[in-house]
Amino acid sequence: MGNVYSKSSIENLKNTVDIVDVISRRVELKRAGANYKACCPFHKEKTPSFMVSESRQYFTCFGCGEKGDVFQFMMKYYNLDFGEAVEKLADEYGIRMEKKGRSDDGLTRLFEVNRLAARFFYNAMTSGPNPGYTYMRGRGLSNSTMKKFGIGYADEKWSSLYEHLKKNGVSDKDMLDLGLVSQKNGKCYDRFRNRVIFPIINTSGKVIGFGGRALEKDAQAKYLNSPESRVFLKKNNLYGLNITRGNAVSSGYMILVEGYMDAISLYQHGVENVAASCGTALTEEQARLLKRYTKDVVLSYDADAAGRKAALRGIEILRKEGLGVKVLHVTDGKDPDDFVKMYGKDAYLDLVGKALPYAAYKLESAKQRYELGTTEGKIAYLREASRIISALDPVEEDQYKRIVADDQGVSTGVLTREIESIRNKESKKAEKTRSTSQPADAQAEVQDVELTRVEKNLIRLFMMDSKYLDRIEKEPDLIESPFALKLFVLARDRIKKDGTVDVRSMTDELTDAEQKVFMDIRENVLIDPQQKEEFFIQCRNAHEADKLRSEERALSAQLDMAEDEEIISELQRRLMSVRNKILSLTGNA
Ligand SMILES: [Zn+2]
Repeated sequence: MGNVYSKSSIENLKNTVDIVDVISRRVELKRAGANYKACCPFHKEKTPSFMVSESRQYFTCFGCGEKGDVFQFMMKYYNLDFGEAVEKLADEYGIRMEKKGRSDDGLTRLFEVNRLAARFFYNAMTSGPNPGYTYMRGRGLSNSTMKKFGIGYADEKWSSLYEHLKKNGVSDKDMLDLGLVSQKNGKCYDRFRNRVIFPIINTSGKVIGFGGRALEKDAQAKYLNSPESRVFLKKNNLYGLNITRGNAVSSGYMILVEGYMDAISLYQHGVENVAASCGTALTEEQARLLKRYTKDVVLSYDADAAGRKAALRGIEILRKEGLGVKVLHVTDGKDPDDFVKMYGKDAYLDLVGKALPYAAYKLESAKQRYELGTTEGKIAYLREASRIISALDPVEEDQYKRIVADDQGVSTGVLTREIESIRNKESKKAEKTRSTSQPADAQAEVQDVELTRVEKNLIRLFMMDSKYLDRIEKEPDLIESPFALKLFVLARDRIKKDGTVDVRSMTDELTDAEQKVFMDIRENVLIDPQQKEEFFIQCRNAHEADKLRSEERALSAQLDMAEDEEIISELQRRLMSVRNKILSLTGNA
């Protein structure tokens, strides 16, 4: 269930419960200065690096990077969604929650319109013979599967849905906002026509959008999806998750496929831990969503070039969120839907069992790109393989070095030297980015003592003038790296306690590596004392621009993958707007 509670009652709950109390009921906390420490409940460790700050009502783990407020703690600890975490806390502390009222900006109304539309399509599918039903039966779907997924039918007329919604008192504006109808010369007409309709339902059971597959062979777009709206953000959702998330929890992993039909068909054949990304390249948000239910993902994309590219990209995104990843491609270039229909559940699960760990998959894909029969090809492959291995942990590194060495008939020593030289180059590069000190754009690097340029600048600023601790506290997403947060918390607590920030007492709490970075910041980041406010604003803009740049990268990656014309033009529109925003932030700086 999702969040059905009003903003004000959530605020009230957050102000009433104390994060220290909530966490100490589950984890043994020890006092450490103004904070509390414990061994982290989210990763294995022997020395505590999990910190809870009473003053900030925030937890941070300097080991694994988990952090957040009391709700995020509950979500993570019990695998709950936001609404469930709120409910659990409210129950535990006996606090009465108010449901959202009419004041939620009309969102309830928009969900209701989508629900009406979904019912309308479903009734059209089930109330008599129609081409949609014939088509889906032809593709092997049973009545009960269609019911389970609420699959519907949009007829070929131009205003069936429009008139139905109108009769139910829905305004043209709501229909347009949701992308259920389009408008031409002031007249509304149905956007989904002569299509099978897949309602997209979030994990709270709300219909947020629709996917429609054309029944006509030469339709302009084979798949047409609802445009993004106030209730539908594609990057935040996975198709089928509303039905299958429990199965991912119980089976310990989730299978991720590309299309609606892949997910539905696998499900019907008894492979029930499956979800689909549907028309978008996998996003960070989707990876985070998955992480609530499972730690391991099996990518089961098509075996064509696009599917392989998507798998390689998916690996990076899922790994970044700390998920385990394996990849399988079904044989003979079929998609998972065809395969499971032809060979059944056991044959498919057999492939899942044989899915390649992500590193092996990356090596395998690299191998296909080079002509190993030639000396140049072999050298190029060994270089690429070394690059892939250089990003692995020591145990994996050892394994894969041996596999590649055996496979290519070279010694592991050769690979070791190449890997070392790659790592050397990379650490020099990192050193270089670290030592520059102008407020400018930097890529976010989140590892141990890694800080973004913006964070370094802000640390220097709050060390100069503690007023900026308050400013940053009001905009907490300005600093996110664990080390930056640690410094922030240390400084903040000292101000609260002593009214001043004593650098030496802060330094005492830092590791050697941290001390080095901290000193580097204090010595090398230069701020004109007369221009602190301008500097702060520049930092804020640079941070905003960084965020937009990563959005820009994600959008152009999606654009690479998109095939549907409407999606392409939607992505192009968003890309333009992001680029304009970046320009307006950096243009006159
Ligand atoms: Zn941790």
